[in-house]
Amino acid sequence: MKNIIFIAPPAAGKGTVSDFLVSNYNYEHISTGDLLREEIKSGSSLGKEIDNIISKGGLVSDEFMIKLMEEKLAKLDKNKAFILDGFPRTIKQAEKLDEMLITNKVTNNIVIYLDISLDDALGRVMGRVICPKCKRSYNLTNEKLKPIKDNICDNCGVELEKRSDDTEETFKVRFDSYLENTRPILDYYKDKGILKWVDATMNIDNMFQIIVNEAKND
Ligand SMILES: [Zn+2]
Repeated sequence: MKNIIFIAPPAAGKGTVSDFLVSNYNYEHISTGDLLREEIKSGSSLGKEIDNIISKGGLVSDEFMIKLMEEKLAKLDKNKAFILDGFPRTIKQAEKLDEMLITNKVTNNIVIYLDISLDDALGRVMGRVICPKCKRSYNLTNEKLKPIKDNICDNCGVELEKRSDDTEETFKVRFDSYLENTRPILDYYKDKGILKWVDATMNIDNMFQIIVNEAKND
């Protein structure tokens, strides 16, 4: 399978697709969020600097992210394909990533963009509910993920609670700023001819199939 650089706005389903590929196609999921958390937990000097930046509400610089990714890519199991999630976020990171992949002789890569409109994404996020007792998640906007009885947990019979911290307004801001920041990166990969555009609102099994077909070696 090809390595996948995954780009998707909030609520497009990147987590679900990643889990599917990890379980069924032995992918390694490299998430920058996880890498940052691991680095902080390790207590390394880099980790301490990152912790300091994040706790002040700052953004981790390109240099830090690139360094983290360099370390991770150098340690990769070459027999496994990987999913890159959360990197690159800037053009500089994208250019550096190209260099790193060449250095590590990783040549078999595609970029997948999961396309979803703000309205569809908003519907998904606002429909997310959780059972306060057994912690089972539901989505009121998805036929497959709905509880049997309106807003009641199938297991416990208790009332479900909203799961998202987002209000409609904060989600819109988050979504729009993601698209704005990501556009140059999409153009970058489009120019290179490795960008695959996938409709994230289709039936989930069809979407899995399309992504698997794109990721299969020619
Ligand atoms: Zn429950």
